[in-house]
Amino acid sequence: MLEVKNLFVSYGRIQVITDFSFNVGAEAVGLFGPNGAGKTTLINSIIGLVKPRSGEILFEGESLLPYETHSIVRKGISVVPQDGELFPIMTVLENLKIGASYIKEARDKVNERLEFVFGIFPVLKERAYQLAGTMSGGQQRMLAVGRSLMAVPRLLILDEPSVGLQPTLVTELFEKLSMIKSEGVSMILSEQNVRQGLKVIDRGYVIENGTLAIESTADDLMHNEHVKRSYLGL
Ligand code: ATP
Repeated sequence: MLEVKNLFVSYGRIQVITDFSFNVGAEAVGLFGPNGAGKTTLINSIIGLVKPRSGEILFEGESLLPYETHSIVRKGISVVPQDGELFPIMTVLENLKIGASYIKEARDKVNERLEFVFGIFPVLKERAYQLAGTMSGGQQRMLAVGRSLMAVPRLLILDEPSVGLQPTLVTELFEKLSMIKSEGVSMILSEQNVRQGLKVIDRGYVIENGTLAIESTADDLMHNEHVKRSYLGL
């Protein structure tokens, strides 16, 4: 579905991604690495917010590099950004509807999509008329994911969704991500919380200093000595 090949990305003269390749099929893929490793830069490259210096990004065989972000989203890629980017003085329902508003296919079946999102996140239905900015941090994170799902993505990209959430909420959110995965949505999960992330993903890539450190299945990553030492505190 998505193929990133030999990507190099620089900010000015500082190279932050060096020869990075990865791919995503009908599965959930983890992008793990410490702060500043380059995870957000990779995501921004996929959705056209950052232009790579060289390399290739293919979505269903077509290069995404010539396209602007809005066109890339229309092709079926939706991102949940790190800060959520909700509209705080709009209701939950209004925020969700905005998620569907950019794409004709989504606009045409907005009610069906709402039912899909409410099925995964019942709390959003209960609070449909509450202002988004008055909800708890955990609920706002659920809303950000729900809003991205309104766009009927085939590939959902989540940039560190667990940041700032207390452990019980992280567990709840990641259970929801497993539900979304089982609905047939492919996923890229960028995370520093490797322990929780490994419960959701099928395969993962560890990125350190902008380069690939390890690529493996979730099972193998869980037993990898470097992962255990550096990311699982074992
Ligand atoms: P984080 O968890 O902080 O989001 P990350 O793995 O997503 O980390 P990036 O945000 O991609 O990492 O950052 C990779 C490197 O690029 C870091 O050294 C960062 O300081 C640098 N960087 C990121 N954005 C810019 C920018 N706009 N201009 C210059 N340098 C940047």
